Amino acid sequence: MNISTPIEELSKIGPQYQKRLKKLGIQTVQDIIFHFPHRYEDFSNVKNISQVKNGESSCLQGKILKIENSRTWKRRMTLTEAIVQDKTGEIKVIWFNQPYITNILKPGDFVSLTGKIASKEGRQYLSSPAYEKISLTDNQQLTTNSLTHTGRIVPIYPETEKLSSKWLRAIIKPLLIKFKNKISDPLPEKIIKKDGLLNFQQAIWQIHFPNSLVLAEKAKQRFQFEELFLIMLLVLKRKQKIAEQKAQNIPINLEIIQSFIKQLPYILTDSQKKCTWQILKDLEKPRPMNRLLNGDVGSGKTVVAVISILNVVKAGYQAVLMAPTEILAKQHFKTMQEMLKGFSVKIGLLTGKESKFQNRRIIRKKLIEKIKNQEIDLLIGTHALIQSSKKPDKEIKFKNLALVILDEQHRFGVEQRASLLTRKTDVKTIPHLLSMTATPIPRTLSLTIYSDLDLSLITEMPKNRKKIITKIISPQNRQQAYNFIREQVKEGRQVFVICPRIEPQINTDNISVNQYTNQRKSALLWETKAVKEEYVKLSKEIFPDLKIGMLHGKMSAQEKEEIMKKMKNKKIDVLVSTSVIEVGIDIPNATIMMIEGAERFGLAQLHQFRGRVGRAEHQSYCLLFTSSSAVITQRLRALISCENGFELAEKDLQIRGPGDFIGNRQSGIPDLAMNSLKDISLVEKTREAVKEILTEDPELKKYPLLQKRIQEFQKRAHLE
Ligand code: ADP
Ligand code: MG
Repeated sequence: MNISTPIEELSKIGPQYQKRLKKLGIQTVQDIIFHFPHRYEDFSNVKNISQVKNGESSCLQGKILKIENSRTWKRRMTLTEAIVQDKTGEIKVIWFNQPYITNILKPGDFVSLTGKIASKEGRQYLSSPAYEKISLTDNQQLTTNSLTHTGRIVPIYPETEKLSSKWLRAIIKPLLIKFKNKISDPLPEKIIKKDGLLNFQQAIWQIHFPNSLVLAEKAKQRFQFEELFLIMLLVLKRKQKIAEQKAQNIPINLEIIQSFIKQLPYILTDSQKKCTWQILKDLEKPRPMNRLLNGDVGSGKTVVAVISILNVVKAGYQAVLMAPTEILAKQHFKTMQEMLKGFSVKIGLLTGKESKFQNRRIIRKKLIEKIKNQEIDLLIGTHALIQSSKKPDKEIKFKNLALVILDEQHRFGVEQRASLLTRKTDVKTIPHLLSMTATPIPRTLSLTIYSDLDLSLITEMPKNRKKIITKIISPQNRQQAYNFIREQVKEGRQVFVICPRIEPQINTDNISVNQYTNQRKSALLWETKAVKEEYVKLSKEIFPDLKIGMLHGKMSAQEKEEIMKKMKNKKIDVLVSTSVIEVGIDIPNATIMMIEGAERFGLAQLHQFRGRVGRAEHQSYCLLFTSSSAVITQRLRALISCENGFELAEKDLQIRGPGDFIGNRQSGIPDLAMNSLKDISLVEKTREAVKEILTEDPELKKYPLLQKRIQEFQKRAHLE
């Protein structure tokens, strides 16, 4: 037997339990050992029998004088009653409906018991305690580690899938004793020393069976460090790899760039200029750029992208712009056609359902041919662009793709980014990659899972913006708010209404991909229903005099486009929508963002919604409707007091945890690491350690164990 032995081969684990363990993803001895408790109970304080008090949880240890079963006919139960004695006295112990205990505990045995003291008719007894036999004679000393369930700090495991902590302790402890010294520590010794970490053998024992709560915490920290360390190594090594590859070096064409900037209807902000320059400098190099352009909603990322595209296209190469939704792809298509008018850039659009060249619809096959022959300079589309097709005639091939831009990149995973970069093209180089996002990335994340990216920050807004007024609307102020909305519409403004998010009801822990897809589908249905209901309510009851439209995920692309067109042309006053409009939509005349059930959204998302308004000279408003006045949460208050997306992101991270940013369970990031992504000092410390190792030994030749662990880790985590 070794640590990779499958659980089926362990005699103590029957078929029923094997199934339950597998549901948690536990397959081998090693997996069991790495199933960590989520909290502890401290039963280490062993009391003398003479000291016990009613209602207290106590651990008592002593000899069984007598133990026997009886039945209570009235309550139809079996009682097991025992008398236990220590050097200070005797106490009665009672268990209910567990007659088999008399087969385990016999008179004369020494036991350790943890339970609550109760009393009946003035006599104290220990009620249904956890018990374990201890094998010692009267004068022998008992060591904590010979106890598992009592008389010590005991681990409590997340009780899922009918696996009790008691059962897990009994399984894990002997395996730990047998194997802990057979697992080598993946962390280099000098890092353990330098950062004062527990070594693996200490940590794995202390996390399950700690001698003190302080040591339990230290053990947890060590594993957090280890997981973060592996994530960072993985990401930084990937960065190294990309840096070794070749890309087209594209000279900066100042003349054309200046003439483009001159004809813009506004002056670029200093931030926009700085970021543009950083990108152009990257493009000049023969190594692939991998840069993230991070700027708040409305900060003007699009124009920065357009300048980069123009520079690339004018040097004779192709560029691609990808958006996460069809609506956004089409909007970009229109905007870019508009902005690049007069610069003779040939633009194509390709989404899952539609293909266009310049202003004409053409069949997909034709478009793909044009891409291949470089009759298209800039291709805009959805992810459909990178899904490689099995049929060769449907596969998109570029003649000389040199720049890929991902808009709202937080929707794309690291893997997707990597697959883009390693795609084969006709040329021997790989394209430069620019990702853009309005979701401000907290520092801990930019140092960890995003650390393969260089960062450009747009830190200021265009000058013409007014501060958006954010207000919480409690149920009693609803009518007043509706009146205000009507006034705004009468003045020619437009309104977005976001329906509450529908949380899938099923627990998302450990579910299969299929289950997840089904959940998403049912959520989509519910969201659609919510939008339809809100639409009826607003158009029939609240605003029968206004033009109401709706937008939801069940509509076809064409229907969605139709609605967006109407909104742009002011044919709709109030647009009711699911969170699909969260991303990127630009309707400058919309000045009110009304959010129903605001307390159900995360801060980052609320901030995104808010960014849909306040895009032109009119005063704009974000109205947060709550379903009861009691739920003015920490989050909503933060939103009112703060308009800076970066600050909000940090707050959101502290309030909700990093799951929101990186797609929760589906990311495959281990729980401990997930939690440590909140902790900037831990992240910084770990990063230092990673850098030290990589500088000393970039290929990790001296650390085969680390190499192996990274590979395993990579398989588990898809880092989305
Ligand atoms: P985002 O960063 O959210 O993608 P956009 O690129 O859509 O923002 O820009 C939002 C709006 O601001 C657009 O209507 C754009 O034309 C305008 N804009 C961009 N840069 C400036 C600027 N420097 N001054 C004034 N308006 C600008
Ligand atoms: Mg945008």
